Order: sequence, then structure tokens, then C-alpha cells
Amino acid sequence: MLESLAFVDDDGEEVVLDADEAQSLLTLVENFEAATVSACPGCRSRVLACVALVDLLDDAPPHPRARELLELADDAPTLHLYAWDLTTQCVHPAWRDPGHTEWMEALVDLLDGPPPRS
Ligand SMILES: [Zn+2]
Repeated sequence: MLESLAFVDDDGEEVVLDADEAQSLLTLVENFEAATVSACPGCRSRVLACVALVDLLDDAPPHPRARELLELADDAPTLHLYAWDLTTQCVHPAWRDPGHTEWMEALVDLLDGPPPRS
């Protein structure tokens, strides 16, 4: 499977979608607009509000991975989930609100080294 888009919570639990799954899900939920707290203008990485994400997935047409994402959002230890675009070299230079810092801090635990600095 070519990993395309990962959803991670503050405990490091993750759900990873392949390119087809990510594309179809993003279409169904309109790019998570309604659940987005903060997003990179240059790629698909973003901070999502768990409660809004659950509502969004509940209202969306069925998707094969929606149940896993719902469970991730339901069990998340904080109010936010983090979507991580795995297909881009984007280092998010234009993502300049506090959501970006929160996102980086959530993901740094998953990486071997520090994330790229913009
Ligand atoms: Zn980016």
C-alpha cells in the first residue's frame, strides 16, 4: 500500500489511507472543511476537531475506512486529530497560525528526528 494520508491523535494512534481511499474520503467530506481547525495552504496537512469530524463522517455517504476514523476521533485523548499529508514535500512555509505548532508537536513523537523547520 502506498501511504497517502495519515490521521494521528495525541497518543500516536493512527489510521493511514492509501491514495484512492484518501481521495474518495476527501471528496465525500469536502476536504474536511467543516471540521478543520487549521490547515496548511500548500498541502493536505491539517488540524481537525474530533467532534466535528465525527459529525462529518456520520453525515457523509459510507466510506470503507470511515469506521476506523470515527473510532480514532471518538477515542482521541484531546479535542483534535492531526491529518498528515504523506505524499508531499511541503514543509508548510505558509502555515503560520498556532495550529501548525500544535500539529508539529503532535507528529514529532512519531518521527525519528525533528520535523523539517520552515
Ligand atoms: Zn503543507
